[in-house]
Amino acid sequence: MSGPEGRAETPGTGWTRRCSRRDTGGHSAGGHSAGGHDVVPRGAHATTAPTAPATPPALNPGTANPADNPATADSTATNPNPAATVPPTPASAAPEPGTDQGMEWERAVELIRAADEVCLACHVAPDGDALGSMLALGQALRALGKRCLASFGEPFRVPAILRFLPGQELLVEPDRMPEEPALMVSLDAAGQSRLGSLAARAGRAGALIVVDHHASNTGFGGVRLVDPDAAATAVLVEELIRRLGVPLDGAIAEGLYAGLASDTGSFKYPCTTPEVHDLAGRLLTAGVRPEAVSRELWDRAPFGYLQVLAGALARARLERDAAGGRGLVWTTIARADRDSRDVPYDQLEGVIDQLRRTDEAEVAVVLKETDKGEWYVSTRAKGAVDVGRACVELGGGGHRTAAAFTMGGEPAWIIDRLRAALRLPGDAD
Ligand code: MN
Repeated sequence: MSGPEGRAETPGTGWTRRCSRRDTGGHSAGGHSAGGHDVVPRGAHATTAPTAPATPPALNPGTANPADNPATADSTATNPNPAATVPPTPASAAPEPGTDQGMEWERAVELIRAADEVCLACHVAPDGDALGSMLALGQALRALGKRCLASFGEPFRVPAILRFLPGQELLVEPDRMPEEPALMVSLDAAGQSRLGSLAARAGRAGALIVVDHHASNTGFGGVRLVDPDAAATAVLVEELIRRLGVPLDGAIAEGLYAGLASDTGSFKYPCTTPEVHDLAGRLLTAGVRPEAVSRELWDRAPFGYLQVLAGALARARLERDAAGGRGLVWTTIARADRDSRDVPYDQLEGVIDQLRRTDEAEVAVVLKETDKGEWYVSTRAKGAVDVGRACVELGGGGHRTAAAFTMGGEPAWIIDRLRAALRLPGDAD
């Protein structure tokens, strides 16, 4: 879920549902919890995805827990490859048969129709869009009579807030995926490395279909259903399911709705177009109860979470002069802060959504200590400052208004480095 989106930075002309208001200069709307598009830790200091206890995923809907979801790094970032494969088409046009994009859709449908077994993978530390899209597609493929395996790279643990999603019986441990899948579909991953331990299998797959909406998509995969103007990967998956001729049932629709709601920040971000609401309407018609999905994703938490949140807000510091004078607000959550309340790492994503409300700060930052003792640094901006660029500079990635990086060291030292990276060109030292 990471949701904020960053797709609008590209000049791309999407061939599916487009984000309106691209003239706002990027996506505002910083992340939101489950869905925000955070980040992608990479590189030296940027290690792997946020660590979470490597316990088996809870496959049992009903045990859903609260609050936030792992920092979902949803995009990877550098190397923006804006719409490289997206040819210009008239606004609002569906892909015409015969165009490159139309051909990509046709190839994807042919590959799936011809397959007996389809392996699905989404990005590590899955958010609502990644897991919701994957499970929706998996259930649709099962309805077509395909064998279907779905997974994501370690840590293989479904975030508490996503355990309500239907279709989790399709999930298998990543090492149980075939070594050389005949057909693999990558969902919501901006780059092959975002598949974590499944990246190598994607490289060996007989055919790899990439379904994604990140402007920073690296261009991997042989068949690419990639549209940076799509509000969520779920939008593209719905199109694929429609082209496969599978009717939406309530369970499929719920996964798609979770993706759509997550990546539009509950229909608040600029990518919330009329087409997004049209799709949401169709999903409701198919049986989705929006209040139930929203409650699971955002509106519940154990009491311990509230106590951890209270501590984080009490520690928050406001630096009015930082970020080129636009203001920075930041806080920390050490492992001890959450251990004392029995709150796992993957339930902390919503904290930044409280912090980013601060009127006096353009940039909000939460440093969360992972189980490995590193700091996962989530950042959000309101549109005037490019936190994505700053996070890339520090070894992470993300979008203009929602990004993150991972780093070792003391929080104060990390903030010093971030403060320097946020300095605008021309700012005085
Ligand atoms: Mn997404």
